Amino acid sequence: MNAAAPPLGVADALSREAVEWWLRQTDVERLEELWAAADETRRRYVGDAVHLRGLVEVSNYCVRGCTYCGIRAANRGVERYRVSEDVVLDCAHKAVDFGYGTLVMQAGEDYGISREWMAAVLRRVRSETSISAITLSLGERPDEDLAAWREAGADRYLLRFETSDEELYRRIHPDLPGRVSDRMRILRRLQELGYEAGTGIMVGIPGQTYASIADDVELFRGMDMDMIGIGPYLPHPATPLGQEFERRRAEDDWPEDQAPNSELMTCKVLALTRLARPDSNLPATTALSLVDKAAGRAHGLQRGANVVMPNLTPLEERERYEIYPEKAAVHETAEAINESIMRLLSSLGRTVGAGAGGRGAV
Ligand code: SAM
Repeated sequence: MNAAAPPLGVADALSREAVEWWLRQTDVERLEELWAAADETRRRYVGDAVHLRGLVEVSNYCVRGCTYCGIRAANRGVERYRVSEDVVLDCAHKAVDFGYGTLVMQAGEDYGISREWMAAVLRRVRSETSISAITLSLGERPDEDLAAWREAGADRYLLRFETSDEELYRRIHPDLPGRVSDRMRILRRLQELGYEAGTGIMVGIPGQTYASIADDVELFRGMDMDMIGIGPYLPHPATPLGQEFERRRAEDDWPEDQAPNSELMTCKVLALTRLARPDSNLPATTALSLVDKAAGRAHGLQRGANVVMPNLTPLEERERYEIYPEKAAVHETAEAINESIMRLLSSLGRTVGAGAGGRGAV
């Protein structure tokens, strides 16, 4: 491990071999080189502004059976909700009042959110507020829905490929009957429709190796994504994968070369992604801030991230959008979250990004 470190180049000057070497690195002093390179690259390519994207969790209904996710269809313990049009509008007004450039609407893959309903909401947010950009993250919807929502005013769409390991992906993200999940195809389609597209992965999924995460970073490098979200996998006890995780932890029985789902590992992936895709928008994710409540978000922003997604969802619904368990423990109001993010940004000497905050917006 203490042999000469492979060089930390930017974009094509960072080899896959170097990525894997740094992913395996545990020496804290050595890792300072990686943090410094990622922070400097972030500053040079996207500047000190942090873009704030206000998040509304529109619905926790979901047709899918993702084995990692707490709102999977088979989890009968979840009280389901779908917010009203007016709740979305209230959140959009709040986003504008707080100075956020973007409203993000996220949900399970919920066909109760019809093409027409979402198109109408998009048109209202566009005409009744001065929000600069609207992002959707509503799962693997048909091309016709995506086209209609683009037309109605959506600018961006987020769809993580979760892991580039095809076999692992199939295991954790079962297809719907008669419909093979092909998130890469949907991402290409989104770009053809004129969306800014975002993707990402979870870090430390049981069965995910260091080599497979190096492949993920390699894929990011070749993908031309506007946003890349990287968060630790957080086991939810009411899911098959969460139960497998707990059994493995109890028996210390991990697959060979298992990558950890730690804050440190997530930061390494984030930093290397900043080097591989220097001008992408990279969030310091909520999952990262939960895995280390004291330092996760700050570390994210100091190790490559330039985006934060403050949660605007009303508390009652937010508690039920339990994709991972610790989310339920978050009882802070949107106002309190906003204040703590503003304090953090000023303590880090960072500014709030103005406007839509599209890619490369220095
Ligand atoms: N249904 C949409 C989709 O699948 O893209 C959007 C909502 S989904 C809950 C958003 C993201 O949450 C997923 O892409 C996944 O990476 C993340 N997620 C879900 N369960 C998680 C868990 N247990 N730990 C960490 N991240 C999780």
